[in-house]
Amino acid sequence: MELNICHLYPDVLNLYGDGGNIITLTQRLRWRGIEAKVTRAPIGSPVSLAGADLVFIGGGQDFEQQVLLEDLHRGRDREIKAAIEDGIPFLTICGGYQMLGAYYETYDGQRCDFIGALDLYTVGSQTRMIGNYKFQCTPEAGGSVIVGFENHSGKTRLGSGVRPLGKVLAGFGNNGEDGTEGAHYKNVFGSYSHGPMLPKNPAFADLLLSTALERKYGKAELSPLDDRAELAAHDEMADRI
Ligand code: GLN
Repeated sequence: MELNICHLYPDVLNLYGDGGNIITLTQRLRWRGIEAKVTRAPIGSPVSLAGADLVFIGGGQDFEQQVLLEDLHRGRDREIKAAIEDGIPFLTICGGYQMLGAYYETYDGQRCDFIGALDLYTVGSQTRMIGNYKFQCTPEAGGSVIVGFENHSGKTRLGSGVRPLGKVLAGFGNNGEDGTEGAHYKNVFGSYSHGPMLPKNPAFADLLLSTALERKYGKAELSPLDDRAELAAHDEMADRI
């Protein structure tokens, strides 16, 4: 068995250790004897998403989000939408999560038209939503408690076409107002959780891997790993936050 993981826009969307999510995914596969191939697709890359079994997009500040717009609208937008509709699993963080929505309007009125793959939009606010935070995933997203770090001024509002990824237990999440965090649509998981997200949240990492393996091979039984160190880090942060 083998999974092809595509890291989209690693050159511009990669904040607060987001790249660690790729290390976590590949290592958890290798520990189980499953091959992992990582392809980087920076701005201008001809790499197609069609061969990917899992796509990761990290976060970036407003500037980086503006820098990638031209490339996005040269065809990546249609390709990402097609991959999502085809059920390819995505993990997208903060700026990369916002990018799948309809648009991001910064606090000073600059508008980034994004791709509208997910029914959500983001508007910048004067409040910077920053700090360690935690949330509980919905049952459809595995139900685990995620600990992470958020830093965004954008407030994301979900439309009726997507479900939240979870419910905020401490911190801000999507907008600091409605208690929702992230978005879940088909096999796409969007979240504000930097940190990186996956090392301290092994149950969620395995949910992504089993989703990708099931889609590719029809079934996926992931053998259990010794997660004592990961869970100790998770529990320590969950207690502190
Ligand atoms: N620029 C976005 C915001 O501040 C995203 C920031 C990020 O990816 N950390 O809302």
